[in-house]
Amino acid sequence: MEFGWTEEQKQLRESARGFARDALNDDVVERDRAGRLCRKAWQRCADFGVQGLPIPQRFGGQGAGLMDTVVVLESLGYGCRDNGLLFSLNAHLWSCALPILKFGDDAQRARYLPALCDGSRIGVQAVTEPGSGSDALSVATTATPDDGDFVLNGAKTFITNAPVADVFVVLVALSGASGISGLCAFVVDRDTPGLSVSRPVDKLGLHTSPMGEVFFDDCRIPASAMLGAPGSGMTVFNTTIEWERSFILATALGTMQRQLDESIAHARTHHRFGRPIGKNQAVSSRIADMRVRLEAARLLQYQLAWLKDQGRRTTLESSIVKLFLSDALVANSLASFDSHGAAGYLAGTDQERDLRDALASRIYSGTSDIQRNIIAGMLGL
Ligand SMILES: Cc1cc2nc3c(=O)[nH]c(=O)nc-3n(C[C@H](O)[C@H](O)[C@H](O)COP(=O)(O)OP(=O)(O)OC[C@H]3O[C@@H](n4cnc5c(N)ncnc54)[C@H](O)[C@@H]3O)c2cc1C
Repeated sequence: MEFGWTEEQKQLRESARGFARDALNDDVVERDRAGRLCRKAWQRCADFGVQGLPIPQRFGGQGAGLMDTVVVLESLGYGCRDNGLLFSLNAHLWSCALPILKFGDDAQRARYLPALCDGSRIGVQAVTEPGSGSDALSVATTATPDDGDFVLNGAKTFITNAPVADVFVVLVALSGASGISGLCAFVVDRDTPGLSVSRPVDKLGLHTSPMGEVFFDDCRIPASAMLGAPGSGMTVFNTTIEWERSFILATALGTMQRQLDESIAHARTHHRFGRPIGKNQAVSSRIADMRVRLEAARLLQYQLAWLKDQGRRTTLESSIVKLFLSDALVANSLASFDSHGAAGYLAGTDQERDLRDALASRIYSGTSDIQRNIIAGMLGL
């Protein structure tokens, strides 16, 4: 077993950290207040290669292995304080570009992937509906075959990037078909008549990552918009969600390292009772626990990247990573918040924003309860 980094990976980490620190933090507090995705930062990320990290070069990506992809994502999380931007990037990459790469035909890949990599188009995956959430495969949005086309009708909710997106990967049920064999995935362009999106919805955190509803009202799309074979919607969804769970929190490793570094610095320099607060065991133990959770989270994430680089299916490991990293992110964000006292409670501080932003990680890509169900199921329970 080899746990060391190559010289190239060390350089990659340094350059991604520097890029994120210098290019992605302008006006974070104002943007968070305004609830605005920064298109300039989005484009800078595309120019750096983020949106196309694991996408092959022939489709406009970087062709990076998954270990290198994790190195970059982790480094972005360390340097960039705009958690919403990172979340939007992750959703775009893992839940839109990835399924098009894995299930798109040559024409779909050539049509969508270069623009998803170069920053000019933003992607979403729209699965959740008012009547289906954790039970994601019970979607009620229908696709009705009509004269060689399909006509979509229904509504999707809680969709990341929807208000600003150009490309929609959607999971629907073939009308008339029953059960999972009737599920299909399509890729739909924003300007298709009958597709509309809501204004961004207000939410607790991740303000710079716009979320909204998507409506299909007699939205006619050609049969060539189907991703994968007819009836393969469940396979598309299950494969995609496994990738999403595997890597959507890789940036959180960097966030947790930044929180740890800043909590240590604060514990050394902030004095109460005539000495640094870090001299109190309650404070130093809390910080030690942050390090332990981060260390375990890192090892799980790196192992998973390695498994994926070997081409393995990782249903169990992906759910373990999603569950553990989201809990670690929430716990470490709370520990960092606690260590800063009232100063971290003020609006506009990293501590309060990180804590608000962290909580959603226990819901998106399948709640923590659902990850436990999957893990238990894989254990034969
Ligand atoms: C920030 C954010 C971004 C999102 N982005 C997207 C997106 O881009 N695209 C998209 O399609 N969706 C997106 N979602 C929606 C997300 O996938 C759903 O919120 C999630 O699947 C849970 O569904 P729900 O909210 O309907 O909760 P519910 O399914 O109603 O669950 C409510 C509670 O019941 C529990 N529960 C439900 N069923 C079970 C069970 N069988 N066993 C144990 N507990 C159970 C849940 O764990 C939860 O605690 C996003 C959500 C958030 C918060």
